[in-house]
Amino acid sequence: MSFSSFSSLRSNLVMLALFVAAGLVATQRTCAQQQVVLLRGVRLIDGTGAPPREHVSLLLRDGRIEKVGETMVVPPGTQVRELSGKTVMPGLISAHSHLGLIVDDAESSATGYTRENVSAQLKQFERYGVTTIMSLGVNRDLVYELKKEQKEGKLDGATIFTAGRGIGVPGGAPGLQAAADQIYRPATVAEARKDVDELAARHADMVKIWVDKGHGSMPEMTPEIYKAVIDEAHKQKLRVAAHEYALEDAKQLVVDDVDVLAHSVRDQVVDDAFIQSMKQHKVWYVPTFTVDESFFVYAGRPDFMQSPFFQQAAGPKLMAKFDAPGYAEKVNQDPQTEQHRKDFAVGQQNLKKLFDAGVSVGFGTDSGALPGRIPGFAEHHELELMVQAGLTPMQAITTATGDNAKLLHLTDRGTVAAGKRADLLILDADPLVDIHNTQKIFAVYHDGRSIADLPVN
Ligand SMILES: [Zn+2]
Repeated sequence: MSFSSFSSLRSNLVMLALFVAAGLVATQRTCAQQQVVLLRGVRLIDGTGAPPREHVSLLLRDGRIEKVGETMVVPPGTQVRELSGKTVMPGLISAHSHLGLIVDDAESSATGYTRENVSAQLKQFERYGVTTIMSLGVNRDLVYELKKEQKEGKLDGATIFTAGRGIGVPGGAPGLQAAADQIYRPATVAEARKDVDELAARHADMVKIWVDKGHGSMPEMTPEIYKAVIDEAHKQKLRVAAHEYALEDAKQLVVDDVDVLAHSVRDQVVDDAFIQSMKQHKVWYVPTFTVDESFFVYAGRPDFMQSPFFQQAAGPKLMAKFDAPGYAEKVNQDPQTEQHRKDFAVGQQNLKKLFDAGVSVGFGTDSGALPGRIPGFAEHHELELMVQAGLTPMQAITTATGDNAKLLHLTDRGTVAAGKRADLLILDADPLVDIHNTQKIFAVYHDGRSIADLPVN
């Protein structure tokens, strides 16, 4: 045998091996996709805000909901799950979370945006029934690779949408620890427009800006810069979400055509002029109570900190920080703690006022931005905080499902209906009776797949 024929035989064998391997992978994935599952006899909260329906069955096929009905013919080969007494609702959607900013669940890090760390966080969101997240800025460009891999079915975890790096201020917000390639900080209008064009070229899903002077401690993004960002983003068919804090900034951003306010207004109670302006400009409002509450709540050792549901999400290193001697004293003696408490209370008042006036309210937590804003747990806790602010459980759930899909322009999810993605939370108890029951997770389906390793409730 000549060397060339040997080498061609070898390359044929390699090709054959690759072909077989590819065939196996394809078969495995096809099997997973084609598994047909019937969830029978549930109470259904469909994410539209409609009253719950009883004794409903859902047929899932190829990652989608094929049928929703009271009686149903069971196709041969269907896996039937008898679920009477359980409640099914859409998987949660967070319109404001972050990835790769915390390492070991416990420390902020400028070097945490790694494939390994981000993947682990995506899996934690998914395990807790948060099946879709908008990673709203401070992402490395790795995020676009991960998104692509998810589309190809090669990466598990919550489905990512992203604002890419986001646009901050030189020497100003965001004050988060991040590498230089995780954030744009344009000094001029021309740079700002160039940064937006780069986001558009990379197919970011949204543009994030920070408009906050940190109680006078930081330079603030000028209206000249953010107007340019908003204008350029809209030219590129991208919408703009703003981090803001103060009513005055929020008012100006709304007039200047921002699309989403990504935090509560919380320096003061909102006025009617602002409410009217929000409605007139059709701007979405995402409260993120977790931001303020996470600065002080753990010092008070609330009961939920004893639950495995919380502790599994927090992880041992963060738990050790909370349990360390002097933790509560340090928080309570911090001069900023009183401010955070006030901000939280004003934010709660503002949500109720804006919601009742008919402003479009979405759902987010800022989970993953700092330790204590705990991916997965934060979303369930945020629902409780919205109810504490005066929304009904149904209203809170709808912001985090059907309404958030509208906010993010995602027509394929957020509600339970034929044709939608099979992203579902199955609960042991009814969250309309007690919103805390969203934490009683029996099962999570994401893209029609049952997620293992559920958090203990
Ligand atoms: Zn954020």
